[in-house]
Amino acid sequence: MNYVIIGNSVAAVGAVRAIRAHDSQGNITIISRERHSAYGRPLISYLLGGLITEKRMAYIPEDFYEKLGINLLLNSEVVGVDTKKQVVALSAGDTIKYDRLLVATGGDPFVPPIEGLTGKEKVFTFTTWDDAAKLKAVAHDIDHAVILGGGLIGLKAAEGLHLLGKRVTIVELADRILSAAFDRPAGRIVAKKMKANGIDVITEDTVVKIEGDGADISGVLLKSGDVIPCDTVVVAIGVRPAAGFLKGSAIEVNRGVVVDDRMESSVKGVFAAGDVAEARDFFSSQKNPMPIWPDAYIQGDIAGTAMTGADKEYAGGLAMNSIEFFKVSTISMGITNPANASEYEVLTYQNTESYQYRKIVLKENRLVGAVLVGNVERAGIFSGLIRDGVDITPFREHLLAPDFGFIHLPKDLRNSLFAPVGKVA
Ligand SMILES: Cc1cc2nc3c(=O)[nH]c(=O)nc-3n(C[C@H](O)[C@H](O)[C@H](O)COP(=O)(O)OP(=O)(O)OC[C@H]3O[C@@H](n4cnc5c(N)ncnc54)[C@H](O)[C@@H]3O)c2cc1C
Repeated sequence: MNYVIIGNSVAAVGAVRAIRAHDSQGNITIISRERHSAYGRPLISYLLGGLITEKRMAYIPEDFYEKLGINLLLNSEVVGVDTKKQVVALSAGDTIKYDRLLVATGGDPFVPPIEGLTGKEKVFTFTTWDDAAKLKAVAHDIDHAVILGGGLIGLKAAEGLHLLGKRVTIVELADRILSAAFDRPAGRIVAKKMKANGIDVITEDTVVKIEGDGADISGVLLKSGDVIPCDTVVVAIGVRPAAGFLKGSAIEVNRGVVVDDRMESSVKGVFAAGDVAEARDFFSSQKNPMPIWPDAYIQGDIAGTAMTGADKEYAGGLAMNSIEFFKVSTISMGITNPANASEYEVLTYQNTESYQYRKIVLKENRLVGAVLVGNVERAGIFSGLIRDGVDITPFREHLLAPDFGFIHLPKDLRNSLFAPVGKVA
């Protein structure tokens, strides 16, 4: 059996481990357009900021590929897939035959057309080790950076540059930072912490023009008319599933590669996992890309298992973001901003001074979402309660208490719950 995996990150690692658990003999080829072996992508801001060395970036042991008998092709980009001939085409011109194919290509940063952007030297994206390295290489020449986008990636870029002692301004279109995963109070608390550390945060505005002569940047013009003088711009407004190379193949791509609960695409024998996949959501059963690290591993594991012919089913993706900024830990999970508020009940506790916030979202006495800021140690309990659909009535009054823990759960629940929150890198 020839297994071919496109992409060499967390979803790919989950998949090859699963393949080898069921098939010790098949040929596995991993193709990656990056030059590094699998690394902790969420760590690139710490690499930029000098908090960790390159050695710490590795996500797997050095002998991982050799031990599992994997043929690893780095610096190789797949430009097309022919599902009839069962081959992938590489940019170098050669083709590779597969019996089972996994698309684990993650996301590509989205760069919108902005006046004045083309030809500017110090415009960056921030999703790869090399992006961090490029920024670091010119860091001596950066005085003030504007980060376009106040989501997870933008905030991480801001943190890395701040660690290098650079002046940083974040510009976010929404009314708060981290708007996709967090609610308004949580966004405000994180913004407060960032501002206290000298990072400027501008919300409800966006960059409409990058100003400067030739390749140099002198500032950015905002929609509001304000001009922020700066010499560097990091575009961090989001990632899109990296599925462009599947155009013209029979594989169904909506926002991402559409997959079933075994991670199989519309074409038999072709699977997808991680940020590139559009899999079933835990609550709505609608298909969505779920661009988070723990889910990419789980999906890779399920895809790898299915590729060998064995079975394991996806329970559905539970949105979960776990981030720490300036020593304030935050976790959001599940439904945090319910669209139809009348169907949900929301409990909150807040102490802005000490950067503490907790929000619990309930539907029919079952936990469906939570936002934790400051005190996140018990996040595993919350995610377990969500996944198991536990009726919280017997311990409802404790949910907002800072010390809420096992002790408050009925005895029979304590043992059955504990699937801890997925560890990030
Ligand atoms: C700065 C940053 C911070 C983050 N922080 C967190 C966090 O705190 N918590 C969290 O849960 N998640 C975080 N994430 C998201 C997390 O990193 C992703 O969800 C995860 O990496 C997805 O894994 P993946 O295997 O699907 O794809 P990726 O990690 O995106 O890897 C895909 C690989 O495929 C390669 N590839 C793409 N197209 C091709 C092609 N045509 N041919 C060959 N190779 C190709 C890419 O170059 C890449 O190396 C962060 C992401 C970033 C960028």
